[in-house]
Amino acid sequence: MSRPQADDGFNPKPGQPEEVAPGVRRILAPNPSPMTFRGTNTYLVGTTALAVIDPGPDSDQHLEALLSALTPGQSVSHILVSHSHMDHSPLAARLAQETGAPILAFGTAEAGRSAIMTELADQGLVGGGEGIDRAFTCDQTLVDGEIIRGAGWQLEALHTPGHIGNHLCFAFGDLLFSGDHVMGWASSLVSPPDGDLTDFMASCHRLRLRNWACFLPGHGAPVQAPQERLDWLLAHRRQREASILAHLESAPATAPELAAAIYRETAPALLPAAERNVLAHLIDLFQQGHVAPLTSLHAKATFRRGR
Ligand SMILES: [Zn+2]
Repeated sequence: MSRPQADDGFNPKPGQPEEVAPGVRRILAPNPSPMTFRGTNTYLVGTTALAVIDPGPDSDQHLEALLSALTPGQSVSHILVSHSHMDHSPLAARLAQETGAPILAFGTAEAGRSAIMTELADQGLVGGGEGIDRAFTCDQTLVDGEIIRGAGWQLEALHTPGHIGNHLCFAFGDLLFSGDHVMGWASSLVSPPDGDLTDFMASCHRLRLRNWACFLPGHGAPVQAPQERLDWLLAHRRQREASILAHLESAPATAPELAAAIYRETAPALLPAAERNVLAHLIDLFQQGHVAPLTSLHAKATFRRGR
């Protein structure tokens, strides 16, 4: 599902703060898996009153690590959450309780969902819902372009739906905390109805318009050539789209059939995610009028070429 990047050597010790840029420390959470790579990256921004970006999964060990990273005189003034997935947001509530800092995010798990995905979700047609933190709430909702000012730092919230409707990236000068939207080690899971491929592509195009020095992702190593990575992601998705259309040219097929045919070198553990990505493409292509379900639109529907 992903072309291996330079992340092969990325293996930080969980719980150990590491400076990754001036005024930015990264602490790896102890939750490695095929979907989270080495685990979730939590970032601390600032030197006195800090922003914590993506507290991570509900883990005593990680909460302890985050609190231990505060040196004398340091406190947490803001807790920022890129999106409400179980590996990013659940620890926010406990960290808020411990530090008194407010939680800032785009909104609950369904915030920012596109019109078609809202419709499909309401009709229960596309399954999905992997890893959603349904209990997530925040103290303050952020809108696109909003500036968050702290002690000696400021961050800009950028609404980047696609992986999930409530996904935010945070700009810190020419650094971008890119969450699960852009990572070096894998392309993002886009699983309807939380994920929307049309939105994902638009969010990538939008980030491409700015000049970035580096992306600090939710999983894996810093992305040192972010423009190239965005170009690769966009090209990769267009290539997938072309493969899907080519397969449907010869015969109608379902998302699982297409995934099996297209993702030939994908590890079995990642095939369900590949099927979800294919479904996201099919819905996107359906909206553009390039494919249509034989009967009605649902997760296992058979799709054909044409309107
Ligand atoms: Zn995620």
